[in-house]
Amino acid sequence: MQPYQHILIAIDYSEFDPAVIQKACNMAKQTQATLSLLHVFDNIAMPDTAYGTRISLDKPSDYALLNSEKNRLRQIADTLGIDHDHAWLIWGSPQQEIVHLAEQQAIDLIVMGFHTKQGLALLLGSTANSVLHHAKCDLLAVHLPAA
Ligand code: AMP
Repeated sequence: MQPYQHILIAIDYSEFDPAVIQKACNMAKQTQATLSLLHVFDNIAMPDTAYGTRISLDKPSDYALLNSEKNRLRQIADTLGIDHDHAWLIWGSPQQEIVHLAEQQAIDLIVMGFHTKQGLALLLGSTANSVLHHAKCDLLAVHLPAA
């Protein structure tokens, strides 16, 4: 099997991110892969912005909420030693943007969390499930406690 060369870590800024990051870092260490980091957000209104828009981390914005999204990703990237060129902040739908970025950046492994779900939540599906069905590369779904 070819070792992974480019691993994408998808983080949702939740308390579970460290577990996902840890798994991805372990895998990158074993395979000497490059790491990229992605957070997708749609919790902030972005008038006149199309879904899928990439937000520059290093240009400050007039919008305090957007700056806090940027600062958070910058801090995590810096802690992990990931260059800002490989830290992606995208406005859009997490499922779609994870798959899209993975294709565009020639990612060969996506690492993301997977919460065991029951009842209605099971019917609604999970981000990892959707990515699994649409991504062309491998997916490592890190089992997390129920959200
Ligand atoms: P969920 O199915 O929404 O509970 O999310 C499970 C996993 O999907 C998280 O642990 C992340 O790895 C990934 N994910 C969910 N939302 C986002 C997001 N907004 N940006 C990047 N990754 C996400």
